Amino acid sequence: MSHITNGALAIDLPTPRVPAVRNRLRDTPVTGHKRVLLAAPRGYCAGVDRAVIAVEKALEHYGAPVYVRKQIVHNVHVVATLESQGAIFVDEVDEVPEGSHIVFSAHGVSPAVVKGAADRKLEAIDATCPLVTKVHREAVRFGNQGRHIILIGHAGHEEVEGTMGHALDRTTLVQNPGEVDDLVIDDPDNLVWLSQTTLSVDETMETVRRLRERFPSIQNPPSDDICYATQNRQVAIKKVATEADLVIVVGSANSSNSVRLVEVALEHGAKAAYRVDYTNEIRQEWLDGVETVGVTSGASVPEVLVKEVLDDLADAGYIDVAEVVTAEEDLMFSLPKELRKDSSGQIDARGLGGRTR
Ligand code: SF4
Repeated sequence: MSHITNGALAIDLPTPRVPAVRNRLRDTPVTGHKRVLLAAPRGYCAGVDRAVIAVEKALEHYGAPVYVRKQIVHNVHVVATLESQGAIFVDEVDEVPEGSHIVFSAHGVSPAVVKGAADRKLEAIDATCPLVTKVHREAVRFGNQGRHIILIGHAGHEEVEGTMGHALDRTTLVQNPGEVDDLVIDDPDNLVWLSQTTLSVDETMETVRRLRERFPSIQNPPSDDICYATQNRQVAIKKVATEADLVIVVGSANSSNSVRLVEVALEHGAKAAYRVDYTNEIRQEWLDGVETVGVTSGASVPEVLVKEVLDDLADAGYIDVAEVVTAEEDLMFSLPKELRKDSSGQIDARGLGGRTR
């Protein structure tokens, strides 16, 4: 671990194993005061932390290689780091040699994937985020009750595929408010809606409003499906965006919650907003005339990548960093049961929780 101080901030960071390339941005003149507003919460959520530690501990327990179905979390840096330690990422279980260990990603899997792994006699470790598992259970329950489920989410996203797989013939996917008008439903008085965990809260509520207009008796989920981490990061960036000339979101292109943070920033006042995986993707011209830069990161992003962005912004004269805190997070999930004990049978400290950053 390394400890950094940046303005008023002091953050403990995991040491990067796959270093990023620094950007070396130029200092450019602006008329006012250059500053950074750093959104908090940002970065790792409890489900991502648990999933990444699960792969690390599986490598410790069983030795390399450990196979992982799909990206364990949607972040290229995390995946590259785990690959460098011996993880092998595959698309489907039939690519894994029989009898091997396989970790299911934080986004969850359908029952068909679980069966496919069992058929190949794979030792499966399920790193599905418990908040995704909650949605799976809702889908099963409502499916068993004979309800028809409207799932709000993005086609092709692994979480959506996993959730739909739990009530396949009873689920219809809706991706945005506009698609509600096209729905053809046989039994409109028997509907319930669920959602992907990483959507825009505002857009989802608009989709629900339209669903209620068309299907007044549609039932709500028992509790929010959009998870605490997605909601908290959106609230924080909304506050930052109102004062930002530019917002930089650290996160990968396939990270739903990272992409949503760019959209939310633009909708709430940021004059420009961009997503980058690494600091070296920040373009010099983005900073032309910019006084206030907002910075945040998606729920699958290690803090070290944000630190590198702040270092490069400091080179460009943005040395005044203020954290904008809208919530405190202390949620931690216990590890998958196979990984809670160390090799001597003792409960590993990480088995009861995880890193917070
Ligand atoms: S973003 Fe939410 S649902 Fe996804 S892993 Fe994190 S806590 Fe779980």
